Amino acid sequence: MGKQFGVTLRKIRRLSQSTLWFRFERNDGELVSFEPGQFFRFEFSDKAGDFERAYSPCNFGQGVADTPYLDLVVSYVDGGRASQYLFHCDEGIAATVGGPFGRLVVPKKLPARLFLVATSVGIAPFMPILRALTPAMQARELEVVLLFGARTRDEFLFRQEIAAIDGQFDCFTLRICYSRESLVDSKAFEFSGHVTGQVVSFSPDPDSDTFLLCGNPQMVDDCFALLRNMGFSARQVVREKYVFARKARPQKRKVLTAEQKRLIAEKANKYSSPDNS
Ligand SMILES: Cc1cc2nc3c(=O)[nH]c(=O)nc-3n(C[C@H](O)[C@H](O)[C@H](O)COP(=O)(O)OP(=O)(O)OC[C@H]3O[C@@H](n4cnc5c(N)ncnc54)[C@H](O)[C@@H]3O)c2cc1C
Repeated sequence: MGKQFGVTLRKIRRLSQSTLWFRFERNDGELVSFEPGQFFRFEFSDKAGDFERAYSPCNFGQGVADTPYLDLVVSYVDGGRASQYLFHCDEGIAATVGGPFGRLVVPKKLPARLFLVATSVGIAPFMPILRALTPAMQARELEVVLLFGARTRDEFLFRQEIAAIDGQFDCFTLRICYSRESLVDSKAFEFSGHVTGQVVSFSPDPDSDTFLLCGNPQMVDDCFALLRNMGFSARQVVREKYVFARKARPQKRKVLTAEQKRLIAEKANKYSSPDNS
């Protein structure tokens, strides 16, 4: 981990059936500093010891900087260690945080169109990014397209905040794609299927567009492959896959047989013998 600091969990809120929001506060009273879109590594301690997971802060309320808080959105993974820990913890738990890390940030030179493509909690880094882009959207300096994939309407996270941005800016386009929801009484921005299926309809142009992709590794790979075919370079498609820790396999302790022990002792004696020096 790079620069580390301690945090304490102050608030927990349910966002959907499978997602919780957590507010951690720095213990040293300092402000949290990161570029919108970056992530931190959190080290937690459960009964089995310390373990680390990456999370992208989704701070966007009153400005991203100048706050002692790190707000996380975490989705539940069956059998996941962090999921077990975080979905059963109480306010007051401590963690050690390192960072910030990552390249999923607003490009220094704004493109004509910036596509933000997310699935599920992959929306987390895009909330502070949207906040940071507000002045540029107000000044109509760029177009922003948000393609957001969720299983159901219940999993359309931050729907009020995102709908508010949609209502506020003409240069903002929203498409929500549900993979497991029927589209009865749907809004104009609601679609069936996956975000990948929406990309082509915008006729992406490598000369003027930049993509930030975040979330499900399959979605990230599929979108990237599609964009590569359209002439985009890796630099124009910034990717962050929410790859998950493999279950740690318990290390098997090797038990030596009596014969193996005898051979090792024999070798050790041979090489430590003064006759060999
Ligand atoms: C840069 C980065 C930023 C991230 N930001 C966030 C964030 O903001 N919010 C968030 O919720 N997560 C985020 N993640 C993922 C997060 O770090 C954890 O991996 C996630 O919370 C699952 O941890 P876990 O300990 O519960 O499951 P693990 O113990 O890591 O996994 C348990 C088992 O389930 C499998 N598995 C885990 N997740 C999935 C899944 N979604 N689908 C299918 N199989 C799975 C694993 O392969 C493993 O076998 C981020 C990951 C990265 C790399």
